Amino acid sequence: MKAMTNSNPESAAVKNQAAPIPDAHTPSNFLRDIIAEDVRTKKYGDAQIQTRFPPEPNGYLHIGHAKAICIDFGLAGQFGGKTNLRFDDTNPEKEEQEYVDSIQKDVRWLGFEWDRLCYASDYFGQLCEWALQLIKAGKAYVDDLSADQIRQHRGTLTEPGTDSPYRNRSIEENLDLFTRMKTGEFPDGARVLRAKIDMASPNLNMRDPVMYRILHATHQRTGDQWCIYPMYDYAHGQSDSLERVTHSMCTLEFADHQPLYRWYIEQLGIFPSEQIEFDRLNITYTMLSKRKLLQLVQEKRVNGWDDPRMPTLSGLRRRGFTPEAIRTFVAAAGVSRTNGSTDIEMLEHFQRDDLNHRASRAMAVLRPLKLIIDNYPAGQEEFVEVANNPEDPSAGTRQVPFSGEIYIEHDDFREIPPPKYYRLSPGKEVRLRNAYFITAQSVVKDEAGNIVEAHCTYDPASRGGNSPDGRKVKSTMHWVSAAHAITAEIRLYHKLFLKPDPNDFAEGQDILDNLNPNSLEILSGARLEPSLANAKLEDRYQFERVGYFCLDPDSTSDSTPGHLVFNRTLPLRDSWAKIEKKSGV
Ligand code: ATP
Ligand code: MG
Repeated sequence: MKAMTNSNPESAAVKNQAAPIPDAHTPSNFLRDIIAEDVRTKKYGDAQIQTRFPPEPNGYLHIGHAKAICIDFGLAGQFGGKTNLRFDDTNPEKEEQEYVDSIQKDVRWLGFEWDRLCYASDYFGQLCEWALQLIKAGKAYVDDLSADQIRQHRGTLTEPGTDSPYRNRSIEENLDLFTRMKTGEFPDGARVLRAKIDMASPNLNMRDPVMYRILHATHQRTGDQWCIYPMYDYAHGQSDSLERVTHSMCTLEFADHQPLYRWYIEQLGIFPSEQIEFDRLNITYTMLSKRKLLQLVQEKRVNGWDDPRMPTLSGLRRRGFTPEAIRTFVAAAGVSRTNGSTDIEMLEHFQRDDLNHRASRAMAVLRPLKLIIDNYPAGQEEFVEVANNPEDPSAGTRQVPFSGEIYIEHDDFREIPPPKYYRLSPGKEVRLRNAYFITAQSVVKDEAGNIVEAHCTYDPASRGGNSPDGRKVKSTMHWVSAAHAITAEIRLYHKLFLKPDPNDFAEGQDILDNLNPNSLEILSGARLEPSLANAKLEDRYQFERVGYFCLDPDSTSDSTPGHLVFNRTLPLRDSWAKIEKKSGV
């Protein structure tokens, strides 16, 4: 394997963790069945199973790619095989080193380590030689038609195409013209090299597909060495073959390309890699297309590729999602031969499940209301002991400061309580978590009539949160001591799109019309318990009664020292269980 080009400290903890290894209890899937059968019949002799993950470096990876990664790396791993990371870098105008770097970081973060780091551009020389070989065999020709004309000649699903007038050029002329294309004699788009297959094929991909185009563009790796670039279909299968990929798994939209994938390999007589298609991951309220995600970034609809509202792996990471939960989700979403759609609540469910076990508990008041305990001794402070994670006793306890002035959530107090409101209101008694019973007494309002402060009394005998006389309260609330609290900015994320299918828009509209204008909510004056001043980027928290949170990198950037920003990964409520119940899953 080539040396790491970018170190990724966040991934250290999960690096090299295998995908969940299936055992006797894991349901198989058709991909695994195919590989198992090929192993059984020794289709590739004693060669090991070899797969590849082949991203085009024209954007950041999204959670759909996580599915492909888990399949490519996971299946090879389950059969003792290997997986290459191969950049499909055949389109220099859209590709960038930034994407190459981010993709490597994200694959590692997800918990996978590739065998070889490859680039389709490594094979440009070989691909060109093979093109010459096909020309010499009378299987490829240089066409002078323009892109538009080629399209017109292609025919339709119901009508065959028509031959280009250049289709029957002599081999010598084709060799000469292709060599001159390569040496830069012609401008962009002047000519193409096409495979000579069958203009009447029912499969449009087989109607003399373009193999090479002229493009005077600087490539991020090969510079100005090339001015002709291979098309995806011509590069992909041959790259697979060069790497001795046994199972080349890709998404269903490539199924129609499979005959062409085979044709090139058969004509060239090279290692017979096999393409197998599976369904794309689609998630409700989520758009998984690099091209459209790029548009959101370029038009500044979001704050970059790693905006926590983005379905990119970098966005999910920044928001606090974990590789473990993403892998579990992808496995649970399954793999099939028909495209469908997965509820976003399912992803959220697996993330909550994961965080519930690992997140430290902390108290944070998002929309603070000051509460003054009138009978608490002036100037006194004390510390109450709190479990760091009730799900995990080994996480220990911590001391949280308490005093006579605290903050509670604004929403936890009502002057006039609606029916079934069990939280704080004048005359009502509630528990402050791990601290005392309190009874609300009065409110202070501003001139506009807004409650700005509430007053209460406490029962000193209820320290720790239990009353000695056994009386019960209906509600337990979180709090922070006003004098000890730290202030932080909290970012709440809501769905980026308003519709389950973001592509469902009326005529004359586009996907951007389905963007949720309120997907980001910023609360600037949240008050947090002081221990959170020491939070680190990799830490995960459950703010009690509120949700799961993590520190945002903005907190630690040099421009904002001491300015704490927490991202809400997810609120606590889990609607997946309800959906599951309803649909009888
Ligand atoms: P996009 O449509 O987002 O641009 P792509 O297919 O063009 O995606 P590639 O970089 O070519 O992106 O994808 C690399 C691999 O990831 C391919 O094998 C592709 O099939 C797979 N992949 C891409 N999107 C999904 C998805 N939503 N679900 C599963 N696999 C995917
Ligand atoms: Mg692609």
